[in-house]
Amino acid sequence: MNNEYLLNTIELDCPICNKVHPVEVRKRLTQGLVKGEVVEYDEVYYLCPLCDEEDNEFVPAGIMDNNLLKARDSYRKNKGLLTSEEIAKIRDFYGLSQSDFSAILGWGEVTVTRYESKSIQDETYDNIMKMTYENPMFALESLDKHKDRFTADKYWKIRKNIADKVEQVGRQYLKIQEIKSLYINYQKESEYNGYKKLDIDKLASVIGYYSNFINDLYKVKLMKLLWYTDALFYKRYKKSMTGLVYKHMPLGALPVAYDEILFLKTVNIAEEMIYNDIAYKIVPNKDVNISDFTLEELNVLETVACFFKDFTSKEIIDYMHKEKAYLETEPYQIIPYGLASCLNDLK
Ligand SMILES: [Zn+2]
Repeated sequence: MNNEYLLNTIELDCPICNKVHPVEVRKRLTQGLVKGEVVEYDEVYYLCPLCDEEDNEFVPAGIMDNNLLKARDSYRKNKGLLTSEEIAKIRDFYGLSQSDFSAILGWGEVTVTRYESKSIQDETYDNIMKMTYENPMFALESLDKHKDRFTADKYWKIRKNIADKVEQVGRQYLKIQEIKSLYINYQKESEYNGYKKLDIDKLASVIGYYSNFINDLYKVKLMKLLWYTDALFYKRYKKSMTGLVYKHMPLGALPVAYDEILFLKTVNIAEEMIYNDIAYKIVPNKDVNISDFTLEELNVLETVACFFKDFTSKEIIDYMHKEKAYLETEPYQIIPYGLASCLNDLK
């Protein structure tokens, strides 16, 4: 196997040959058993280069703990559970210690410590931690419910931290709930959503992508770019990229929840006065991680961005008006993805 790396060498009292000499610190991909399931993970081990090939490896206790943590995190990823690192991130988000986080949720004092070090949470506990992160209002209510587990000083200090997050991202959480409720009748894969259930994270990344790659991006143009992205992806792969549902509107295709999606966390809006109208400009967002896209997705995004980058809003509307998807649907009708197969070539 060629998936081994030499990380560094350190001088120590080697337990294999009982001499002080440089020992190699190595890393390799390995398999382990967690809760009866085989998982793959990176393990770190030490190797004595002075001894024969057999029995020249050893793993110090601290490193062993870390390897086991990696194995459990690999299991968690497979099961869609929070990893130990992600749990720590949620605590950091609110500035909480492990025992404070446990106390807020009404759990035993060392529960969170155990989840971050040696045991795997079950789904119920996992959901509660996720909810605490996604909805700061839920975190605040949980804290108030378990107020008696804190001194007054500490309670108010923590409450202030959480309240700041309610202000910062609480609105965004509510918008996501609004988007979900507007899509409640489009849960099933159909020709309306391009055989894909709305993927809000993907949508947020797509908007973030265009905010970085298109100069002077305004709301109207963004909505058309989204349609072209989904339509082109559908034309190629018989599936939409985001799962958005689009309606035939006077200015072209417009997604259901077009206002709400502008509140996603990847979207920074600047209001500008153009003549006597307010225009919503989408400003670049450095935090968008494009490595989350597949190569197929990136290729579609790039094609759409390159083709339309210099179009004004009016030009892209006129262009869209000539699409079969627009000509063959009635005003306010949902545009079925099937019509996207006849998309004009973006060349
Ligand atoms: Zn040795």
